[in-house]
Amino acid sequence: CGIVGYVGNDNTAEVLLESLSRLEYRGYDSAGVALVCNGSLQVIRSYGRIFNLRQKMPHGIMATMGIGHTRWATHGKPSEANAHPHRDCTGRIAVVHNGIIENYKELKDMLLARGHTFTSETDTEVVSHLLEDNYTGDMQRALLETVRQLKGSFALAIVNQDEPGKIYAARKDSPMVIGIGEGQYFLASDVTAFLKHTRKALFLEDGDVAILSHEGVRLMDFEGREVFRSIKAIEWDL
Ligand code: GLU
Repeated sequence: CGIVGYVGNDNTAEVLLESLSRLEYRGYDSAGVALVCNGSLQVIRSYGRIFNLRQKMPHGIMATMGIGHTRWATHGKPSEANAHPHRDCTGRIAVVHNGIIENYKELKDMLLARGHTFTSETDTEVVSHLLEDNYTGDMQRALLETVRQLKGSFALAIVNQDEPGKIYAARKDSPMVIGIGEGQYFLASDVTAFLKHTRKALFLEDGDVAILSHEGVRLMDFEGREVFRSIKAIEWDL
C-alpha cells in the first residue's frame, strides 16, 4: 500500500528500494519495481518484504527512472503473481496502484471480450490493459481516457517503454505527493519516502494527473487542462 517513483541521475534501483523500505509500515505482503534500463522495461517482483525484493535485484542494474510498490492486498491473495507492477499484454506498460478499482469486473469482462489475457487476480491489472487498449501512440491521452473510465480510489504510477523518459501519475481518493529535488523528481504516497533527498513537496489533489520527466513536472486535470499546485517546504524531521 505504498507507491514510489524516481526520475534522476542517482542509482534509481537503490533510491526506489530505500524509499519503499520507508513505506513498508503501510503494508508489505509483496513488493516490486519497474525500471527503465536502456529504453527497455525490467520488472522485478517478490512475495513478502522489501528485503526479499532486494535479494532478487540484479547486481549493479542501471536505470534512468522507475516506479515501485509495496502491496496490502484487497483483491487477490498475497503472491508474486498478484504483486505490482502489473503489465499489459505486450509487457510495455507497467502500473503500480494504491486503492480499489470498484468497476474492475465490468472493465475486465470488456477487456477479455477484446482479447486481453490476465495473469493476476487483482483489480489493478485492468488498468494496465485499459491503458494498452487506449494507447495509440500518445500516452498522455491514453491515461486521461483511462482515468475517466475508472471508478473507485486510486493513486497510480505508470511507465510505458515506448515513452521511456516519463512517469505518469494520477490520483483520486488516495494520497500522492511529488518531491522536487535538484534535477531529480520523486513520487510517493507519503513524503517520508523521499525526505532524505528533498524537503520540497508538491501535494497532488483529487483529480490530478502528473507527468514527471528529467525536465520537470507537468500537472493537469482528468480533462487535460493545466493545473497549478504550490510547492511546500516540509520542516519536520524523520
Ligand atoms: N487493490 C490493489 C491490490 O489488491 C492495491 C492494493 C494496495 O493499495 O496495496 O493489489
